[in-house]
Amino acid sequence: MEGGGIFERLAEYDHEQVIVVQNRETGLRGFLAIHDTTLGPAFGGVRIRPYANDAEALEDALRLSRGMTYKASLAGLPGGGGKTTLVEHAGLRREAAFESFGALVESLGGRYFCARDVGIQDSDLEAMARTTRFVARDPAPGLGDVSEHTAIGVRHSLRACVESAGIRGKVRVAIQGVGSVGGWLARMLSRDGMELLVADAVEERAAAVARETGARVMAADEILFAEADVVAPCALGGVLNAESIPRLRCRVVCGSANNMLARPEDGEAIEARGIMYAPDYLANAGGLIRGVDYFVLGLVDSGPSLARIYERTLEVIRMAKAEGISTARAADRLAEARLKKKKTFRDLTWRGEVHPPALTPVK
Ligand code: NAD
Repeated sequence: MEGGGIFERLAEYDHEQVIVVQNRETGLRGFLAIHDTTLGPAFGGVRIRPYANDAEALEDALRLSRGMTYKASLAGLPGGGGKTTLVEHAGLRREAAFESFGALVESLGGRYFCARDVGIQDSDLEAMARTTRFVARDPAPGLGDVSEHTAIGVRHSLRACVESAGIRGKVRVAIQGVGSVGGWLARMLSRDGMELLVADAVEERAAAVARETGARVMAADEILFAEADVVAPCALGGVLNAESIPRLRCRVVCGSANNMLARPEDGEAIEARGIMYAPDYLANAGGLIRGVDYFVLGLVDSGPSLARIYERTLEVIRMAKAEGISTARAADRLAEARLKKKKTFRDLTWRGEVHPPALTPVK
């Protein structure tokens, strides 16, 4: 592991707990990272990939679980961040492995709620649901399409940015990647009367969305640098970097892609170009918000919760202006402000429903 040992790495991100998962019989291997439970149980997906080595899987779990804490905190949710990264390999007995992993999640007694992430199939969720109550299974009746909820959140954030940037008239938006979220976003923004430019690595996907929305198709390697009011990255992470930022020709960047900034300081670099950046984990929290509303809080309609992304984007922009910092840094500060308590293992009595086992009778 780069830059010191595991404990140094955990201390850097300030993780509460990391569980190394291993089950010889099923081939299950991976890491379950619980970053922070100040505000409630850790929420976070299970991802499975053919990781090149253990360090890569651990690093992914650490980075992503911390990101979930910030996302949940800024979204005002009653929970923190977690993530599981499992290793896909030839010796994996998939169904039994996920049943075994579910049993581990169950043993945490509600300290970690998991859901689908990269590489997870419906059958994996079903296998986990046989051994744990703490897995969000989708599709589920009344849940809706989680990507659509993510797009609704991006639309709220985008609206706040456009207003704050003083953009008037017909707004032109360039969408990079029109898969699940980008496709929904294109349909919503075209209904709002915006002018759209779209691109996708799969050309036919961009063409189909263009037919549906009247968008103009651009080359995938040019869309980020389109002359537009807003660029909406909805494909890959790391697209805002030292090479791309000087070439941007938009006034706002607001999309769904996770980890848009290649490095934290790229938030300042965008700001220095006079471009307004909607922090990714603020704009793309709609899917998480929907999941928590539905599975944890039992809410039928997430409309009001999603609309708060609009308010929160304005709050971040105001704070950035007032303190002379980037929006990325303002978002981090707001997220951290909700977490300022002495760090310990706090969620065990969350909502009075989950209790540590009584090993000795309480007098
Ligand atoms: P998706 O796979 O459905 O769509 C991504 C699209 O981007 C695909 O159509 C793909 O062909 C295209 N693409 C890939 N590389 C490209 C490139 N270089 N140029 C142009 N297009 C390219 O994924 P998604 O679920 O829509 O997620 C999109 C992004 O939003 C991801 O970064 C994801 O992590 C993030 N996100 C998604 C959700 C959600 O609810 N799905 C929630 C939060 C964040």
